[in-house]
Amino acid sequence: MPIPLPDHTDAALAELVEWRVPSADELIAEMREFLPSAEGTLLRQAYVFGAAHHHGQRRKSGEPYFAHPVAVAQLILKLRLDEASVCAGLLHDVVEDTEVTTEDVATLFSDDIAHIVDGVTKLDKIRFGRTEHKQAENFRKMLVAMSKDIRVLLIKLCDRLHNMSTLGAMRAEKQRRISLETLEIYAPLANRLGIGWLKSQLEDLCFRYLYPDDYQELKRDVGQQRAEREAYVAKVVTLLETELAKAGLASAKVYGRPKHLYGIYRKMKRQNLPYAQIYDAQGFRVLTASLEQCYRALGVVHSRFTPIPGRFKDYIALAKANNYQSLHTTVMGPDGQQVEIQIRTEQMHGIAENGVAAHWRYKEKGKAISPKDEERFTWLKQLLEWNAGVTDNDEFLDNMKVDLFNDEVYTFTPAGDLKVFPRGATPVDFAYSIHTRVGETAVGAKTNGRITTLDTPLRNGDVVEIMTRADSRPSPGWLDFVKSARAKTKIRNYIRQEQRDRALAIGHDLLEKGFRRAGYSLTRAEKHERWTKLLSRFRCQTFDELQIQVGYGKLQVDDVVTWLLPDEKPAEPPPAPPSKRSRRPKEQRGAGPATVSVAGINDVVIRLARCCQPVPGDDITGFVTRGRGVTVHQYSCPRARDADPMRRIEVDWSGGDQVAPVKVRVHTGNSAGMLAEMTQRFRESGVNILQANCRVLNARKAINEFEVEVKDISQLDSVLRGLRKLQFVHRVERVGG
Ligand code: MN
Repeated sequence: MPIPLPDHTDAALAELVEWRVPSADELIAEMREFLPSAEGTLLRQAYVFGAAHHHGQRRKSGEPYFAHPVAVAQLILKLRLDEASVCAGLLHDVVEDTEVTTEDVATLFSDDIAHIVDGVTKLDKIRFGRTEHKQAENFRKMLVAMSKDIRVLLIKLCDRLHNMSTLGAMRAEKQRRISLETLEIYAPLANRLGIGWLKSQLEDLCFRYLYPDDYQELKRDVGQQRAEREAYVAKVVTLLETELAKAGLASAKVYGRPKHLYGIYRKMKRQNLPYAQIYDAQGFRVLTASLEQCYRALGVVHSRFTPIPGRFKDYIALAKANNYQSLHTTVMGPDGQQVEIQIRTEQMHGIAENGVAAHWRYKEKGKAISPKDEERFTWLKQLLEWNAGVTDNDEFLDNMKVDLFNDEVYTFTPAGDLKVFPRGATPVDFAYSIHTRVGETAVGAKTNGRITTLDTPLRNGDVVEIMTRADSRPSPGWLDFVKSARAKTKIRNYIRQEQRDRALAIGHDLLEKGFRRAGYSLTRAEKHERWTKLLSRFRCQTFDELQIQVGYGKLQVDDVVTWLLPDEKPAEPPPAPPSKRSRRPKEQRGAGPATVSVAGINDVVIRLARCCQPVPGDDITGFVTRGRGVTVHQYSCPRARDADPMRRIEVDWSGGDQVAPVKVRVHTGNSAGMLAEMTQRFRESGVNILQANCRVLNARKAINEFEVEVKDISQLDSVLRGLRKLQFVHRVERVGG
């Protein structure tokens, strides 16, 4: 069906040629690069229709308005979306800025395109920042629409990127407002969708308008040092290529390039260093043909350059929330400079750059989004569900801003390890993420070198160091400000356990005194023929439980005593009261299985001893620590043997899906690709690597230490067996086992 066009259509098209706006033919050629069979008929019609209806309108810069929709369409092509999306890009402003209605677009083009245009138009009207009631409601509707068709959001992001790149013609105040909104909302959204290039470009543009002086200065510095840095990049690229080729990976591609300005700026702020001292301002990337080659390439890199401990991250085995996959490592490169290297397959790279959009590439025209793609933005739907009960629209918008757009805060340990928390998290969350013990003894923090209180919210890029004091304990008040589920659970457990310990001791005391008053003794009471009946009468499984109930005041001592000794006849004189500490272990054994459920941390706070790192399945023993639950050691651990026997308790593994950290040392020869093969063994057994540290001793010997997380001893054994089978492995041992 021919689309009716106004008389001035030819004039409109001629003007576009004059202003060198890319033509429909050029766009179609770009589209055919990834959709070779596309005819582009619909695209051409949308182009002509848009050009005709926007005719006479101009942008602030003086060029024809339609140059903007064309630029947006080009960005959509870069994302490799489908033809309907490109058309929607060309038409995204016709409903807002011309006589054309959504219904017109639906009749003349398709419902699909009309729906996207409608979505983008509505999203356009929303001002974030200080919102009016109506806008918040619009926004909510929009999110619902977006969760049905992610293309709306993708096109909106392209629109925003082009608007940001032409912001120069606007007033300074408007530049700032739009930049702030972009930095707070659209750039994180692009990141959340996994579209790396869009995020970087948006951030750089915001940087330029929000911190113009810093931006210009950094840009100048980067320019001045360009030649020097480019020479260094070329040197590293050549080195890596040579090494990879030697290892039979000649097909791997190596790239090196400067990081985006805002990324460097953030680094400078974080480390408080000038540009000249930021060595890792350029990143290196190795792209391989297969997953297996990634690990081989990693082996090559690590055997040629010394890895910086703690900087290896396996995001292939553990993909990020936005589906990003890659191996990250930092090594000591030439001239003593630290070099960051990312290793991934070509396919993973596509996802890293285009995120959710990458999955549209092979999508056929007109088909609904596939279930697999749908999964990639379920977080959006989830967020809507969580907020379903929120009736106040402003509150809803606030929640959205926190949860969806700024839901994570990225912080670092002094060693440069990334720690990600929910927004608003505090040093207490940080402390617990390092280790429960660090959390429990935290007294303050140094954030970016400055001392802060434990309730100060963390900000993106903060480098946090936790200060502890051995005799310090968690405060119940922490529950008011911690944000991570981990910290919350651990603090609650601690408080519960502390109260339980206290109740147990008090209950014990009260019962002892109660029976003594009756001319009896607790020891004798336990041997009484009606003792078991007494426990069940008061609905207690164990003696401990009875003591706790008494300690909490839920049971009265006198009720217990008179139930057991109704006559209350003083018998023989009571024996000397035993010290309660020395009596307890025996009493516990007599009263039933005094086992600590090691996996079920609901009941007891446990800590696995660092000295011997027990793993489920090991013979273990526990020690009650004052107020901090139970420490679990291996039965044979020398430290456990030396500990106070009075505090020893019997503990048992009780299943569940806990994991325990354990160190493994592998003595090997020294050849390329070893690390890859060892890593592969861990992967095959489903074992997560926490840390790897590889040291080459000489040309024939290397020692590799891994800290891994295992479910139990049999999983550990299977990994050790797998490692022993490797040719270059001389010896494998569990450290501290
Ligand atoms: Mn627009």
